[in-house]
Amino acid sequence: MILATTRQELREALAAARGAGQRVGLVPTMGSLHEGHLSLVDLARTRAEFLTASIFVNPLQFGVGEDLDRYPSDLERDVALLEARGVDLVFHPSAEEVYPGGDPEVTVDPGSMGRVLCGAFRPGHFQGVLTVVARLFGLFRPDVAAFGQKDFQQGVLIRRMVRDLEMEVEVLLGDIIREEDGLAMSSRNAFLTPSERADALGIRRGLLAVEGAFLAGITSADALRGILRDEMGRHPALAFQYGEVVHPERLEPVESASPGSVVAVAAHCGSTRLIDNQILGA
Ligand code: AMP
Repeated sequence: MILATTRQELREALAAARGAGQRVGLVPTMGSLHEGHLSLVDLARTRAEFLTASIFVNPLQFGVGEDLDRYPSDLERDVALLEARGVDLVFHPSAEEVYPGGDPEVTVDPGSMGRVLCGAFRPGHFQGVLTVVARLFGLFRPDVAAFGQKDFQQGVLIRRMVRDLEMEVEVLLGDIIREEDGLAMSSRNAFLTPSERADALGIRRGLLAVEGAFLAGITSADALRGILRDEMGRHPALAFQYGEVVHPERLEPVESASPGSVVAVAAHCGSTRLIDNQILGA
């Protein structure tokens, strides 16, 4: 496996792969890897022969007071996990390598869909995400890139960026990978104390309660939101941030849920912000 830290190393390795007729698959990550990330490697493998992953904690997508400074990292472990999963190249650049000369002047504006849900609480976040993803697409020119449904809004916006900016890359979205008890895997779960970890499960319980109610015939988004809040409210460490029933591509709130509507939720658990979602009737 190749570990590239510079653009030049990346360019040479990609040119060799392309020269050999291989399709390039990319899995962008911020490291501190878990099975959710690795499942995306497996997904990319279905559409590409040369598998690449990036490990880069993108400062542009963190707001003031967010957890950029304490974001977990374990490069050696991450590289070993990616190699064991059959990744051919890992790109682990410095911020200077990704943004030579400092923050970019031209960035990608996610539009109104970047200001709802998480975007309402994290101003500038999705602009930072789309900007780094566009830059990674520029550096890798991947044929296919895999992202997780766990970050539902991010996935929708990346697909929309690719469509609106005519980027030639196939975007795959992988299912949410969960711990055995149902908590969505996240690098940030490492921050949870044992009692917070127990309460964090309230997010999943809330989503399952909503799914159950929907399958039992309740479609009012108000009623479904109430069920979500009630269930999450049973878990003292959880501070509800938002819970919305939205259209899966336009992200607009719906009044009445239908199969394929997405329930998206964010909550603080202690000092850790967690997100999860559920596609209704999936
Ligand atoms: P991150 O390192 O948190 O930026 O995540 C990198 C990629 O992994 C993103 O596309 C995420 O959506 C995806 N991802 C994170 N957690 C999970 C999970 N539990 N299941 C599937 N994909 C995930």
